[in-house]
Amino acid sequence: MKDYFIIGQGLAGSMLAWKLMQKGCSVQLIDRFDASASSQVAAGVYLPVTGRRMVRTWLADELIPYAEKFYSSLEDYFKTTFIRSMPVLEIPDSVRTYNEWQMRKENDEAGKYISGFYSSDKFPELHCPHGAVELSSAGFVNLKLLLSRLRSYFISQHALIESVFDFSLLKVDDSIHYGDFEAKNIIFCEGIAAQSNPYFKHLPFQPSKGEILTFRSEQLTQDYIINKSVFVLPIGNHLFKAGSTYEWKELNYCPTEAAREKLTRQLEALLRVPFELTNHQASIRPSVKARRPFAGMRTDIKNVGIFNGLGTKGVMLAPYLAEHLCNHLLHHEKLMPEINIAQYDELL
Ligand SMILES: Cc1cc2nc3c(=O)[nH]c(=O)nc-3n(C[C@H](O)[C@H](O)[C@H](O)COP(=O)(O)OP(=O)(O)OC[C@H]3O[C@@H](n4cnc5c(N)ncnc54)[C@H](O)[C@@H]3O)c2cc1C
Repeated sequence: MKDYFIIGQGLAGSMLAWKLMQKGCSVQLIDRFDASASSQVAAGVYLPVTGRRMVRTWLADELIPYAEKFYSSLEDYFKTTFIRSMPVLEIPDSVRTYNEWQMRKENDEAGKYISGFYSSDKFPELHCPHGAVELSSAGFVNLKLLLSRLRSYFISQHALIESVFDFSLLKVDDSIHYGDFEAKNIIFCEGIAAQSNPYFKHLPFQPSKGEILTFRSEQLTQDYIINKSVFVLPIGNHLFKAGSTYEWKELNYCPTEAAREKLTRQLEALLRVPFELTNHQASIRPSVKARRPFAGMRTDIKNVGIFNGLGTKGVMLAPYLAEHLCNHLLHHEKLMPEINIAQYDELL
């Protein structure tokens, strides 16, 4: 009998499985490979200041150093590069916004992440008439590569079954039975599929579709993640990702012409150099109404749990919260109330 079934090998399931195995637990992952899953399509960016109002993101001071150290430790283990730290160049839309950034440097909790101010002539390839502001403690993770290395590792450890999880084969009593397999606990990390999970469909997800372009540009700087109304991420060899859109109603995996046109227009407004589109993808983020992830075991069925709801910030959140959840599972440490699914028990 294994200690844990983990359903889903996206970012959430991978981080949790890796950490549980490192702590000596036996794990059985079940995952259907899905090239459209959120973790496969995500740009992989992490940054300390986010949102329309550009405020310091929840727990940024803890999450970012933890994530950078953790992904580096995976690089050492797999002898592969996954993470690259890279400053963000914020492009203010007015002199007023530029001045506000200057004031925030001294007076705001986001101030310590503001690392430079530039005039527009420093970046002739960009439309930035009001200058640019540099933010530190940012970068990106190559999630596709990381998850593929982890998948090979889990397979080599006989810890991953490649198949669709079928609820009709699941029996929950003192232990968890799934076909011929048995485990003490089961933790669902199915991303957006959790919305139809009979144990967790009460949780208030608010999924959002995101579309993202890949483009080539020979003359654009590859030293910064650039953020205006669209973000631009250099991924090497003069290729860049540009995104992402947000759509809450039409939830499907189809790239749309409307999103391609919108992102292209935003790129044209930002770049003063030619670019050529090479790819266009769409996926659905497992976002949550309250903007905090879901973690924990059900209060009434103590061997059935979830780790999900990473929303737009999976790269920053997953390593830290997987460790936090492990400490809860193995050492009975208290879960942060913001993420503990017990807060939604009245919706059951
Ligand atoms: C366009 C876009 C851009 C993004 N950019 C960023 C970014 O720059 N930075 C960032 O931090 N985040 C970003 N995100 C968000 C990020 O992708 C998510 O936070 C994170 O990847 C979610 O991981 P997850 O493991 O919870 O879900 P998923 O990645 O959806 O993984 C769920 C896994 O479960 C499997 N599964 C589901 N049901 C079953 C079943 N019945 N049987 C077997 N397997 C099953 C799926 O195949 C999948 O492998 C972006 C998302 C999108 C859509």
